[in-house]
Amino acid sequence: MIARLNHPDYDRWAAQIHATGGCHQPIHLRGKVEHYDRATGQLLHRYTTRTEPDGILRVPCKTRRASRCPACAETYRADTYHLIRAGLIGGKGVPESVAGHPTLFVTLTAPSFGAVHTRREHGGKIQPCHARRNAATCPHGRTMTCTTRHSKDDPRLGEPLCPDCYDYTGSVLFNALAPLLWKRFADSLRRRLAKLGGLTLRELREHLTVSFAKVAEYQRRGVVHFHAVIRLDGPGGPAAPPPPWATEDVLTQAVQHAAQVVSALVPAVDDQPARLFKWGQQLDIRPITLNGDLTEQAVAGYIAKYATKAAECVGTLDHRINPLDDLERYNLRDHARRLITTCMRLGAHPELAELRLTDWAHMLGFRGHFSTRSRRYSTTLGELRAEREHHARDNEITTGRLPLFDEDTVLVISEWEYAGKGHSLGDRLLAAAITGGRP
Ligand SMILES: [Zn+2]
Ligand SMILES: [Zn+2]
Ligand SMILES: [Zn+2]
Repeated sequence: MIARLNHPDYDRWAAQIHATGGCHQPIHLRGKVEHYDRATGQLLHRYTTRTEPDGILRVPCKTRRASRCPACAETYRADTYHLIRAGLIGGKGVPESVAGHPTLFVTLTAPSFGAVHTRREHGGKIQPCHARRNAATCPHGRTMTCTTRHSKDDPRLGEPLCPDCYDYTGSVLFNALAPLLWKRFADSLRRRLAKLGGLTLRELREHLTVSFAKVAEYQRRGVVHFHAVIRLDGPGGPAAPPPPWATEDVLTQAVQHAAQVVSALVPAVDDQPARLFKWGQQLDIRPITLNGDLTEQAVAGYIAKYATKAAECVGTLDHRINPLDDLERYNLRDHARRLITTCMRLGAHPELAELRLTDWAHMLGFRGHFSTRSRRYSTTLGELRAEREHHARDNEITTGRLPLFDEDTVLVISEWEYAGKGHSLGDRLLAAAITGGRP
């Protein structure tokens, strides 16, 4: 820290840190950018990292995961918020009339894989977890009750009452199949809408587009469920209204139908028979309104929050696990360890190879994208980033750091190489101090 503070290029270092927005693990780049006049070949401007502190340029890591870099995850969260919100009320290139399209907030859950410790509230009071007067005793001699009123941060929440009864195989297979179930749900939804509108699936496309934005959330028991904004647009996307028959009611019916009928099959393995997986019984469908129970801000905030989280929130690891690793080393709670070892065990079966359970053991079997949107939903994260970078470039030009060129007459040659990642301990503390983050 002292060396950094006393160094003559400290101000430039601090400016780089500000430019990364307080990234915890900035990427180090070494290289140069040269601007040439296309006509004369004259060098107009040269930027090289050779004169930068430590000879490198630090750029943000851009992770979405809050466990890895809170600063970049916050940028990702804010961008996600704006693009979800634009899909609900317009803005960022989406017309405001989109607010009048039928739009639902749908939660598709996982089925039960056994009783787990839960926190229940009723009328503002915390209820006992599993109070049963004549509770059965399981084959392992455990009484299936728990009268604890669990606190919010009780580590037992989401853990099974009897781990030996709990269906760990079902839990990780469901996670592995969740992306396929979602795809089948979306296909079935379109088919049902076509039927309700008296059209064929092919004809539907000329009348209606189903746009959606979805996010995966890990429940504390370690299974994913999906929250999705589902919206009906005209044939070209949000600029056109859907046909008059495609109402919120029709969309609700189609969602209910699709969530019930779709399934995914897992082949038989060892002594385990083939299994058919479906969504859980709990299906939550709520209209999104500008002034009702569920506002567009609440929905955008909700989706954006989950977009920066992954399975580490349920006590697993935030990186891939080598099959030869000794899991004892990681000090995991029993439930997370059992979910991971179940992935490893099933991952070794050739019949299940395509589920790639060993690779995704740290995600408890889920290998899908956390946050996805259909093409027509609203603007994209890429466009939001480009807009921000464009703004940063304008800023460099107005402050004289970058000369203003006519882009058509200039040839830009850039050469970059990866030169590392992260901060030294001293830099980390200083960076936190100057950007107001946590070290
Ligand atoms: Zn970062
Ligand atoms: Zn309990
Ligand atoms: Zn048991």
